[in-house]
Amino acid sequence: MEEFKPRMGIEVHAQLDTTTKLFCSCPVAFGEEPNTNVCPICLGLPGVLPVLNKRAVELAMRVAFALNCHLHKESRFARKNYFYPDLPKGYQITQFKFPLATSGSIKVDEKIIRIKRLHLEEEAAKLIHLGDKTFVDYNRAGVPLVEIVTEPDITSAVMAVDYLKKLQKILQFTGASNAVMARGEFRCEPNISVSCEKGKLGTRTEIKNLNSFRAVKRALKYEIKRQKKILQEGGTIKQETMRFVEKAGVTRSTRSKEEASDYRYFPEPDLPPLLIKEEWMEKVKRSIPTLPEERKKRYIELGLNEEDAIIIANSKKASNLFDETIQQLDEPLEISKWIIREFRAHNEPNISPTSLASLVKMVIQGSISRIIGSKVFSMMVRTGRTPEEIVKEKSLLKISDKEALTSVVKEVFAENPEEFKDFQNGKSKLIRFFIGRVMKKTKGRANPKEVGRIISEYEQKH
Ligand SMILES: [Zn+2]
Repeated sequence: MEEFKPRMGIEVHAQLDTTTKLFCSCPVAFGEEPNTNVCPICLGLPGVLPVLNKRAVELAMRVAFALNCHLHKESRFARKNYFYPDLPKGYQITQFKFPLATSGSIKVDEKIIRIKRLHLEEEAAKLIHLGDKTFVDYNRAGVPLVEIVTEPDITSAVMAVDYLKKLQKILQFTGASNAVMARGEFRCEPNISVSCEKGKLGTRTEIKNLNSFRAVKRALKYEIKRQKKILQEGGTIKQETMRFVEKAGVTRSTRSKEEASDYRYFPEPDLPPLLIKEEWMEKVKRSIPTLPEERKKRYIELGLNEEDAIIIANSKKASNLFDETIQQLDEPLEISKWIIREFRAHNEPNISPTSLASLVKMVIQGSISRIIGSKVFSMMVRTGRTPEEIVKEKSLLKISDKEALTSVVKEVFAENPEEFKDFQNGKSKLIRFFIGRVMKKTKGRANPKEVGRIISEYEQKH
């Protein structure tokens, strides 16, 4: 039996996190009243001129550098012509022959996936289908996108998802895109071919309509199986565009695949070539925040175990909070525990590094117990107040005062005369029982070490 090997490439469209559109000053916003963020430029009215958004270029440059691409000092815009209601001008402004960047690479599970190209383009409008009617929302028309295309270096559905997850993190960490899939800010279109000849690619199909990582994995697995089956039965694969039917878990053909020539690309006459000076390149390179991979390494050097380092490094919010908190309190291990347990359990709330640092400090110094600390954390999230304010207001400070603790211990002895007798007769294990009672009575505020010392004095006296 011949062995059929799948090869996949992926095209990702990510929405760049700018405040305005790519060629006009209309705001970019999600979920607003349809057709309110529009102007003659993004509606494609005659006689208007597009003006390129510098911020969008800068964000795309960051991604290009993070993906080790070759950034071109000169790139150009082109018109991709097709007629559809979501495209008011009748063409999309994109980059074709002269993209912003080419020849990048990304390492996924120790394998290199080559990035073929990265370019800027404008988003189309959103079509909303209701019953037998279709509505168009032009708020989305002209929103800046970066398109990232890989070479067909991906060899399994799992690897495809790993690549997408890693790319999503890079987009988020560089601040280029929020890349939320559910909002359409991160969309992917994989292409798949299966071949039995070494190095030779088979005919490929492309899958649209994938809106979750799970869908990507299922669709690819199905499509690989489908193509293998056709080839094993001696058939040929048709080059076509497929869509994934989520419910049935199958891919279906939508239309035969267009060739690039179908779009009649030609140079955009209204925009000059995009020229990027060396100085700007260097500035953008320096502005890129460290990526998860590097952060993870640094955290391991600080003494975190690998698992914890990965958890923190993979979340931009957790990672930034960690970095800023250890600037204020040099206790990386302790801080990492609070971030992993509390911060994540509360869905990554907005808390200041200063507050987290002082909370952890109070616990380390023993002025509050760990349990109380955890309660204070919840209250910080709920009220937005500082830990000092909360501890003071709720009088949560640990009781270490010997006299005060001794009186509580005595109360506990009086309440449990049997156990006290056994304890004095040598059943020293009961010390845990008494400490527990004292902790309960003081609502966790007693210093357990001190309580233990006081209780054992009663044992020795006997
Ligand atoms: Zn506009």
